[in-house]
Amino acid sequence: MSVIVLVEHTEGTIKKKSLEAVQYAAEIAKKLGTTATAVATGKIADTELQGLGAYGAQKVLYVADDRLNDLHARAITRVLVAAAKQENSPVIVTLHDVNGRAIAPRVAIQLKAGLISGALSYPDTVKGFVVKKSAFSGKAFAYVNATSEVKVIMLAPNSFQLNKTEGAATVENFSVNFEDKDFGVKVKSVDKITGEVPLSDAELVVSGGRGLKGPENWGIIEDLAHALGAATACSRPVADAGWRPHHEHVGQTGGTIRPNLYIAAGISGAIQHLAGVSGSKTIVVINKDPEAPFFKAANYGVVGDLNEVLPRLTEAVKKFKAEHH
Ligand SMILES: Cc1cc2nc3c(=O)[nH]c(=O)nc-3n(C[C@H](O)[C@H](O)[C@H](O)COP(=O)(O)OP(=O)(O)OC[C@H]3O[C@@H](n4cnc5c(N)ncnc54)[C@H](O)[C@@H]3O)c2cc1C
Repeated sequence: MSVIVLVEHTEGTIKKKSLEAVQYAAEIAKKLGTTATAVATGKIADTELQGLGAYGAQKVLYVADDRLNDLHARAITRVLVAAAKQENSPVIVTLHDVNGRAIAPRVAIQLKAGLISGALSYPDTVKGFVVKKSAFSGKAFAYVNATSEVKVIMLAPNSFQLNKTEGAATVENFSVNFEDKDFGVKVKSVDKITGEVPLSDAELVVSGGRGLKGPENWGIIEDLAHALGAATACSRPVADAGWRPHHEHVGQTGGTIRPNLYIAAGISGAIQHLAGVSGSKTIVVINKDPEAPFFKAANYGVVGDLNEVLPRLTEAVKKFKAEHH
C-alpha cells in the first residue's frame, strides 16, 4: 500500500509546486502508516527523480515515454490508475492546477474515488477523512469528509512551506500500455514567455488596476516587480482594455494565485478580484481612496498616490537588497 502523487516538470526540472505535493502526500502516508510513491512521466534525469526522496517520496514510478513530456490527460490517467492499482493506494494526490483539473476527475471516476479539489489542509483522520478546501472561487472555506475507500485529492499550490530533508527515492521503471486515443490532442508548438517569473508559480506578485490610468504607466509596476523578483498581474478591466495580456488577469474569471506577497496598486478590491487573490499570505494595498474595499482584506495598506508610492517602494527594495547582499 502507498499514497500516490503525480509530479509535473518543465523540461526535466520538477516544479516547486510538485515538490509541495510530494511532501503533502508523504505527510498523509505517515498518518496512514504507509509510504509515498511519486509518479513521473516524460524525460527526467534519474538524479532529479531520486531527489524527490528529500521531500518524502520513498519510491518513484517512472514512465520514460517522451510523448508524456506534455501531460496528456488520458494517458496520465491511465498511468495513475495503473500505479494506484499496483500500489493498492488509499489516496492519490495531484495538484489543483490546469493539469490536475483535467486528470484528477478522470482518475476519481475510474477508481470510484471521492474527489477533493482545492485542498488546503492535511486530512483530519480523527473523525473520518476531513479536508479544508477553498469554495465559491476562494470566497469561503469548506470542510469536506471523503467517505469512499479511495480518495483523490487536488492540492492547492503554495499551501505549505517546503522543507527539504535528506534522502533519495528509488526509481522504478513503470510501463503502461497506451492506446492511440490517449494522445488524441497533440501540442504542435509552445510559445513560452521568457525573462519573466511565471505568475502561477510566483511567490511574490505586483499587480496593477485601473488606477494606473493606461498601459504606458506600467513601468512603475514592472520596476517594483523587477526589484523584488516578482511576477506581474492585473485586474480584469485592465486585461479587457488590452493594457496587459490576459494571462495576467487574476480573479473569479482569471487566474487564482496564492503567493506569499501580493502587492495591489490602483485596484479597488471588488469581490470578483479578491476571489483570485485572497489566498495570498500577505496582501499590501496601495490606493488613494481610504474607503477602497481592498483595505479590508489587506495586511498592510498605504493610502496614497501610486505614482509616488510605487517608485519610493522600488527604491527602498533596491536599497535594502544592496545593503543586505
Ligand atoms: C461576473 C464578473 C466577473 C468578474 N471577474 C473579475 C476578475 O476575475 N478579476 C477582476 O479583477 N475583476 C473582475 N470583475 C470586475 C470587478 O467587479 C471590478 O470591476 C474590477 O475588479 C475593478 O478593477 P479595478 O480595481 O482595476 O478598477 P476600479 O474599480 O476602477 O478601481 C481603481 C482603483 O484605483 C484607485 N486609484 C485611482 N487612481 C489612483 C492613484 N493615482 N493612486 C492610487 N490609487 C488610485 C481608485 O481609488 C480605485 O479604488 C468581474 C465582474 C463580474 C461582474
